[in-house]
Amino acid sequence: AEFAALDAQVEGLEDDAGAVLSQPVLAVVGRPNVGKSTLVNRILGRREAVVQDVPGVTRDRIAYDAMWNGRRFTVVDTGGWEPGASGLQGAVAAQAEMAMSTADAVLLVVDASVGATTTDEAVAKVLRRSKRPVLLAANKVDDNRLMADVASLWSLGLGEPMAVSALHGRSSGDLLDAIVRALPEAPRDGGEGAAGPRRVALVGKPNVGKSSLLNKLTGEERAVVDAVAGTTVDPVDSLVELDGETWRFVDTAGLRKRVHTASGTEYYASLRTKAAIDAAEVVIVLLDASEPLSEQDLRVLTMVVEAGRACVLALNKWDLVDEDRRYELDRELDRGLVRVPWARKVNISALTGRSVRKLAPALRTALESWDRRVPTGQLNGWLSELIAATPPPVRGGKQPKVLFATQAAIRPPTLVLFTTGFLEAGYRRFVERKFRERFGFEGSPVRINVRVRE
Ligand code: GDP
Ligand code: GDP
Repeated sequence: AEFAALDAQVEGLEDDAGAVLSQPVLAVVGRPNVGKSTLVNRILGRREAVVQDVPGVTRDRIAYDAMWNGRRFTVVDTGGWEPGASGLQGAVAAQAEMAMSTADAVLLVVDASVGATTTDEAVAKVLRRSKRPVLLAANKVDDNRLMADVASLWSLGLGEPMAVSALHGRSSGDLLDAIVRALPEAPRDGGEGAAGPRRVALVGKPNVGKSSLLNKLTGEERAVVDAVAGTTVDPVDSLVELDGETWRFVDTAGLRKRVHTASGTEYYASLRTKAAIDAAEVVIVLLDASEPLSEQDLRVLTMVVEAGRACVLALNKWDLVDEDRRYELDRELDRGLVRVPWARKVNISALTGRSVRKLAPALRTALESWDRRVPTGQLNGWLSELIAATPPPVRGGKQPKVLFATQAAIRPPTLVLFTTGFLEAGYRRFVERKFRERFGFEGSPVRINVRVRE
């Protein structure tokens, strides 16, 4: 039952969708052949699109990362969407509807050499209702003779038409300036974080071996480790040299003093644990391999997952583990660690020092995953194939469609799927599992959020 409880807690967390997007989205709409793809490639400088050209793989035009003047944003080519509406006009209008409700700004592309068609007018009518900014690009203005035709596009009621030539690059800088102005300012990605040593928390239930491990890692003779620069009185953190790198072990004052929590203070112990996890980037969760996995262990793991920290599992007291215990332990871990199958397990003994040097590489791997971002184009190339092979289950008679996705954040890696309907937790777990099969992310939680267009 306790395992189910852990599951439910983490489940609740997943349902709490809606991470702040660190990267705003621009959707590009318009009739076929007006030059949307050409323009998208122009906006991208064709960097990412090239990555996508895998022979034998049908490549939908979906979503890519773009950057202009240091501002990153995601470009979505709605030409890749199949809205199911019948007739060209209906289809393009439906794309515009979806664009309006998913993107932060919309770019309507019109072919200036043709002028505004009835389809363009219908789409403009839809877009005039948009609460988000809408930009109008008059494309295929390869030379100045078309400027009069450009002016006539004011009639679409979307403001000033910007004359561009996607083919020749005319005014693409001006267009990008306007796009970046229209998009909301993005909150910074997890950023590079504070410089200096990576922050590690050492947590686990009482008597699991935290003090012993810290002492082993810092050299047994030195009870007090190097004080962190700048803190002269009672430094709470320890700087520890592991595998040629300095790490900052957070909140270790209690461990060094070997202040052991008396009974009844479990609540405070858990607050301390929580504080240490919050202060860290990566957490070493110590488990006592010689004893059955307990509810307390699972609570600590839940805290780590909820806090979104990278994680390494250290199975301590391995010197006490015999053949029989090993067999039992495997089964306990299979059952107990279902929510953290991605965490690396290192079998150690703080007492003998066995394998403690395997911790540093595991920490590094976990942090690399925690910091990692999959480019939008690569993500969507993979996702569109996954969804084509295994579409989300029908709900209320409707088949939810995933329009596109971006990895909106790192630390922890967070995917946002833009959909036309709710995706069940089971399907999101499936997406996560497949995502890990394809991209790895060992040692880090990965969050999957869903943004249903309203
Ligand atoms: P989409 O269907 O809207 O994505 O349009 P494409 O990007 O596939 O372009 C359709 C056609 O228009 C292609 O043959 C492009 O080479 C051409 N095209 C795109 N932009 C321009 C432009 O600025 N000038 C001219 N002359 N042709 C263009
Ligand atoms: P803490 O409460 O998590 O800081 O745990 P301690 O480091 O104080 O360890 C609790 C007890 O477990 C002490 O008696 C340690 O000597 C013992 N211990 C710690 N690590 C190991 C280990 O790897 N093997 C064995 N056999 N005993 C250990």
